[in-house]
Amino acid sequence: MDAPLQGGRYIRYACAVLTDCGVCSLPADPVGLAARAGIMLLPLSQIENYPLWVPYDIADSLRMTSAVTLSYPTFCIVFRDMETDADRLRFALFHELGHIFMNHYRDFPEAMSSNRTADPALEAEADAFALNLMAPVPVVDVIRYNRPRQAKASLFGLSRTAWMRRLDSMDSDRSFIDEEMANILLFLFRDYLLGRRCSACGKSFRDEQQNDTCPYCGASSPEWTL
Ligand SMILES: [Zn+2]
Ligand SMILES: [Zn+2]
Repeated sequence: MDAPLQGGRYIRYACAVLTDCGVCSLPADPVGLAARAGIMLLPLSQIENYPLWVPYDIADSLRMTSAVTLSYPTFCIVFRDMETDADRLRFALFHELGHIFMNHYRDFPEAMSSNRTADPALEAEADAFALNLMAPVPVVDVIRYNRPRQAKASLFGLSRTAWMRRLDSMDSDRSFIDEEMANILLFLFRDYLLGRRCSACGKSFRDEQQNDTCPYCGASSPEWTL
């Protein structure tokens, strides 16, 4: 098997999914994204009512993780709706979506079969996809530069551990991102990144000029939405 992590393949996929699904604000929402991509998400509590429908012991597979993917008869992600850690569940859902979007089930059916131990390279690629979808390098760069105090795990819906991994992989991931891809990503998030709200007149606007005044009433220093 090729080493899928080579060449930053996961970054191109994450960028394409962000674009295709029109993700434009943080934190990214896996439920809305799956709906737009036509991938079913099923809460475990619901699926437990249909034991015959499930090809293997889902509850057992979900003991160690928050979400698993069924690839037959149709792609469907089952998640632990009793999971109380929202960040953990969000990451697990994007990880599973990564397996589907990057065609791991189609290209590596044996490695992905439910009775095999997970393939470390494919798992790492799904994790890297999730990180680059939830915290794309150019978006993180802009936020860290312009709004450094906002650049923290909670803004991206990441756990502290995942945020540390995001920061550790920034430089290596950045090497896979060309100017065109960076522009595509920043264009998607432009309203989010440049959004301001004037406390004097209550209007919201995108501050392209960055001249620190409200274009409607002229009041100074409108608040950044971010
Ligand atoms: Zn996985
Ligand atoms: Zn104003």
